[in-house]
Amino acid sequence: MPHIIPIPALKDNYIWMLINSDNQHVAIVDPSEAQPVIDYMNQENLTPVAILITHHHWDHVGGIPDLVANYSVPVYTPATETVKFSTNLVTEGDKIELTELDIVLNVLDVPGHTAGAVAYYNEELVFSGDTLFTAGCGRMFEGTPKQMHHSLTKFKSLPDNTLLYCGHEYTEANLSFAGTVEPSNPDIQARLHEVQKLRKSGKPTIPSTLALEKKTNPFLRCEVDSVVQSASTHSGQTLTDSTQVFAAIRQWKDDF
Ligand SMILES: [Zn+2]
Repeated sequence: MPHIIPIPALKDNYIWMLINSDNQHVAIVDPSEAQPVIDYMNQENLTPVAILITHHHWDHVGGIPDLVANYSVPVYTPATETVKFSTNLVTEGDKIELTELDIVLNVLDVPGHTAGAVAYYNEELVFSGDTLFTAGCGRMFEGTPKQMHHSLTKFKSLPDNTLLYCGHEYTEANLSFAGTVEPSNPDIQARLHEVQKLRKSGKPTIPSTLALEKKTNPFLRCEVDSVVQSASTHSGQTLTDSTQVFAAIRQWKDDF
């Protein structure tokens, strides 16, 4: 397995770098900017072998033009979204073999944040873009609650020890909302404490694990009694199915 490091970019984005230290090759996930990536590759003497894009938003693709101007590298992008300089369109079921990194990544279609968003995963990790966040999920810019909720169930079906790498450092704010939805969930309070310590020392709070997300991320807990109750009370309706619960807490978070 390659090792994975974040390059912080823009205000709170992370560009994920998958590095094989044996041969100095790297794959780049969601380069919002080119310069910090180029600087890092020069400093570490790395050669890019792939750019992987989760969705078309500018703060995930902004670095592509300058990267492809400097390096000959394939650009994998969601099949139903328009991303300039794409070389390979990907959709659910596709496998991306990155031989230089000794890794195969699978593609999941996860619409909701954008209509064509994808995630990349293997047996150890998942790059979720802005669909599933640590302790939260993305806004639904182009999708319905039903679509987004269905996409989140796909993440939930991955193994518990899967490492979650998402596109933004939002964990602390997300946990403060999670604690509002579930004030009596001790796992949320414990995680918030840990995350505050990490942020005070300037460290990333990502990756997380899906096991931790299932205990603390309200958007993955739409069947849990405390979340159903809280969403029902907040929305003033008796919510029965998990998609309704999801829609109610997503709306609640939008207004939070
Ligand atoms: Zn986005």
